[in-house]
Parts: sequence; structure tokens; C-alpha cells
Amino acid sequence: MVNVDIYDINAILLDIEGTTTSISFVKDVLFPYIRQNLIRYVKDHWKNAELIKDIDSLRMQAVEDLKNGLNVVQIPDIDEEEDRLQEAIITNVFDQMDADRKTTALKQLQGHIWREAYHSGKIEGHVYEDVMPALKSWKTAGKHVYIYSSGSVEAQKLLFGATTYGNLLQFIDGHFDTNIGPKKESTSYTKIANECGYQAHQILFLTDIPEESQAAKNAGMKTTLVSREGNKSLCEEVVKEFGEVKSFDQISLL
Ligand SMILES: [Mg+2]
Repeated sequence: MVNVDIYDINAILLDIEGTTTSISFVKDVLFPYIRQNLIRYVKDHWKNAELIKDIDSLRMQAVEDLKNGLNVVQIPDIDEEEDRLQEAIITNVFDQMDADRKTTALKQLQGHIWREAYHSGKIEGHVYEDVMPALKSWKTAGKHVYIYSSGSVEAQKLLFGATTYGNLLQFIDGHFDTNIGPKKESTSYTKIANECGYQAHQILFLTDIPEESQAAKNAGMKTTLVSREGNKSLCEEVVKEFGEVKSFDQISLL
């Protein structure tokens, strides 16, 4: 077992999917939950101010899409017949999910549906069993911990706020999503280092994706790949280049 030493590191930046959390939690729990609950959610929250705003965002996105030549289902006005409006919303959202789109309007509605699910205990955020002990020991050692994920900051907070091991937000100093920039571009990591108030070389970035490691390394960060059960296996070359841990236990403070 090769340990990664972090005595000269001030902050740890963590990816979520495939790093702290299984890819299957996102793929097999979070996204199917939206598919299974969208109709009920829309009916339960009908005329609720937050849902009305979410519908407005979907409508504006659909208009924008049409302008850009995308053939998407348009959302009728709010005073339109209820059944027809609900059907359009559901088709539009499912179509966006089928196409793996990441529009703000879609993420906003998904975030609200997940919030209800986490708060009611229908969903618990998955983290691997070594994650909480590692977060605790890093914090005790005075390190700062940040998250950088393509999931929205709101979705990240929901996940870490209600995990199988309880609320882990107390161990996390800050969250970044793709609003700071794409995960495979080094400028994103430079910006994150600036926002955290550290030099890039004082930060260790942990991810399962070699291209993300490369981008962080190009920005000057230290980086190690994480290989978890259920991840795509890493080829020898990238392991040699970036190193690899299978658990956060392998990241030692000494
Ligand atoms: Mg990942």
C-alpha cells in the first residue's frame, strides 16, 4: 500500500462521484428518483410559489432552445389547462434528462425534488466508510476541505448534509461546482486555489478522472487518483503519472 503524505498540504479538494461517493448512487438512486417522483412532485406542489418559479425557468429555457433550433417541448402559460401544462412539464424534463442536459432550469427543479427526498429521509447521501474518519482527521490536523463537483453546490450540500453517517457539512469549508469552470480545464483549479486563499501547490486534489487530475496538476495542484469499487479501472500509465489510492485511509498526515 502506497501512502500519500499530506504534511505539507493545507487543503484537500475532493471530487464526489467515484471519489467520496459511488457512481451508482448518482446513476441508480438520485436520477431514477427524479423519474419516479416527478409526476407526484409536480401534482403535490402545484400552485406552490417555488414550483411556479421552476416552471417559469423551464419555460424560458424551452423558448431559448427553440431559438437555437432545438426541437423541445414548449411549456404553456401557467393559466393553461392543468393537465396539458403538467404533461408538457413532465415531457420536457424527461427529454432533457434523456439527452443528459445540464441546464440551470433542470438542475434547479431536480435540486428541489432531491431536497424534499433528503429532508423526508427517502434518500440518504452515500459516502464510502473511510470518508468521515478522514474528514475528521484532516480537520483535526488543521487542513481545510473543499468539494468540487459537476453537481450543483445546492445538490452537494444536500448530499453531505444527510449521509448514512449523518451530517458531514461541519467538516467541509467550501463548495465549488462548474460555475467556477469545467472540471477538465486548469484555469478552474487556479480560480479555486485563489478563492480558497492558497497557492495551488498547497492543495491536494482527489478525483477518479485522469483528465481532471491532469488539469489540476497543470494548475500546480498536487493530485492523486482515487479508484473505488464500481469505477472504471485506471490504466497503468495514469497510475504511474498521478498515483492512486483505493481509500482515504491511504492519505496520511505524517
Ligand atoms: Mg468523479
